[in-house]
Amino acid sequence: MVRIIEVMNNVYQIDLEPGGFSNLVSVYAINTGKGIIVFEGGPAISSNDLRNALRGLPGNITHAFITHVHIDHYGGTGGALTELNPNIEVYVHPRGGSKVLPNPDIIWIPAREAMGWLGELYGRPLEVPSKNARETKDGDRVTVGDVTVEVIHTPGHASHHQSFIVEPWDILIVGGDAAGIYVKDLDYIIPTTMEPPQI
Ligand SMILES: [Zn+2]
Repeated sequence: MVRIIEVMNNVYQIDLEPGGFSNLVSVYAINTGKGIIVFEGGPAISSNDLRNALRGLPGNITHAFITHVHIDHYGGTGGALTELNPNIEVYVHPRGGSKVLPNPDIIWIPAREAMGWLGELYGRPLEVPSKNARETKDGDRVTVGDVTVEVIHTPGHASHHQSFIVEPWDILIVGGDAAGIYVKDLDYIIPTTMEPPQI
């Protein structure tokens, strides 16, 4: 099951519920007035669910902003987003960009070893053609319709992590891992670990 919640006007949370776990992995989508922009691609296992959820939103999917290329954050991008729009622009940090997107084994092989059953649940990321990759610079600004996304490189959880400030609301999107995982039932934030260098 996938839950779509309009958290603000034209801003949607899509809880992908991989493996039936809710409040764990969400993708956010914003209707800019000139297309839908998406933050994160979810894991490969949720790719079909993400595609179906986005089909229900008004507008074409034009841009995807990925905080980092860990399997739970971008693995479904290839199946869901590039099939909805083969020309979608996928914004990634240069260390996780055109080298990794078409070659997911770079990230999949060490992730499967480190994550065990959870890695198997999320699945091997789907290839994203390098032509879709847009490698960012710190401070880049991308405007789509009424919305502007500012890219901030935020290494820490991953060397290639980036966050986004979204105007006009000045929302900060950190993709979860940069700030910890909030466990609703415990009302507690679990810190996320740093990755061993992979790329
Ligand atoms: Zn991560």
